[in-house]
Amino acid sequence: MAFETCTGIVLRFTDYKENDRILTVLTRECGLVSLTARGVRSKSKTVSNTVKDAYCCGEFVIYERGGIQYVSSSSIIEAFYPIREDYDRLLAAAQIARLTLKLASDRADEALYTLLYQSLSFLAYGNADPRDLTLVFAAKALALAGYEPRLTGCASCGAPVTGEKRIAFSFSHGGSLCPACRTDEKEYSALALEAFRRMLRLEGRDMDRVRLPDSAREELFKLIFDYAEFVLEQPVRLKNPGN
Ligand SMILES: [Zn+2]
Repeated sequence: MAFETCTGIVLRFTDYKENDRILTVLTRECGLVSLTARGVRSKSKTVSNTVKDAYCCGEFVIYERGGIQYVSSSSIIEAFYPIREDYDRLLAAAQIARLTLKLASDRADEALYTLLYQSLSFLAYGNADPRDLTLVFAAKALALAGYEPRLTGCASCGAPVTGEKRIAFSFSHGGSLCPACRTDEKEYSALALEAFRRMLRLEGRDMDRVRLPDSAREELFKLIFDYAEFVLEQPVRLKNPGN
C-alpha cells in the first residue's frame, strides 16, 4: 500500500458511524481533499494528538483504497486553539473556511494555503478585528483566484475615478466606473474603495494592520461578498455559524 504525507488545514467535517469523521482539508501539496479518518472520535488517549477539528493544521499520512483516501495517522502542527474561545473569531474562521471551500480546487495552491494559514494565525493570536481579517482574506483570496477588481481607474475606459465621493462599482466589469461609463451600478464611498485597494496591496504577513472604520467595514462586507457571489455564481456567505 502506498502512503503519502501531506500538510493541511481542516475546513469542515462530517461525522459518520460511531467514531469516524470525513475531513475536508486544504492541503499544501494537493489542494482540496476529502479524507476519511476512522476512529478519531473515540475517547482513547491515542487519538488526542490527531487532527480532527475544523481550523486545525496538521500533517496527514494518507493511503487510498477503492477510490477513497483514508488517514493512516495524523499529528497536529498548529491547533489555533484561541479561535474556539471567542465567538467573533470562530465566526470569522467559519466564514473564511466557507469562502476557501468555494475558491479551492484539487490542484495545489501554495498562495491560497499560505493566506489561509496566516489568516487563522492572526485570528487565533492577533489583536486585529476578526471582521477586518475576514475582509482582507476575502479580498486577497478573490484576487488570487483571478478576480482582482480594478480600483485605480475606470474598469471600462481607464479614466481616473479620483475626486468623486461616491464611486460606482460594476460586478460585470470587475471594478470601479467613471461618471461617463456608469449606468445604474451601485455606488460606494471613495473611502471604502480606497480601503479595498489597500487591502489588496497588503502582504499576508501584514494583514492584521487593517483597521476599518465601522461605515467602511459595513460597505465592504456588502461589496466584497456580493462581488464574490457574482463571480462565483453561488452563495458564499455563512448561513449557519459553525457549519
Ligand atoms: Zn469610464
